[in-house]
Amino acid sequence: MRVTKGGTDMYCPSCKEVTTCKAVPAAQVTYNPSDYGQRKYYIKHDDIQFFQRGRECLSCGHEFVSAEVDLQFLEELVELRDALSEIKGNAEAYVKESAAASVSLEKLSESLGVLRALKVYKSAKKS
Ligand SMILES: [Zn+2]
Repeated sequence: MRVTKGGTDMYCPSCKEVTTCKAVPAAQVTYNPSDYGQRKYYIKHDDIQFFQRGRECLSCGHEFVSAEVDLQFLEELVELRDALSEIKGNAEAYVKESAAASVSLEKLSESLGVLRALKVYKSAKKS
């Protein structure tokens, strides 16, 4: 069902394309009574102030909440996401390398054990 009037063309996260979405109360989407107001902020991040709007995609019926934020905040979010992705990649490499190092250390310990046993054997043979 595609309706050309009575909505705003915007990206639907379900359709993954620009569709016409109508405004609905955000609380209708979240089932959270505190979402009746449009003006929102995070208590621990009061520099992040935004307006939220409930949306219903007129193509697929998916309901979601959109937020109107300062573009600079969005760009900061993208930078943080990239940095987090890099940290995650490094952490995965670290875990992989440390597992390999652990195996090497275990083999080294076994070798040392063999050497110690040989030394004990040799010294026992001499006496
Ligand atoms: Zn949709």
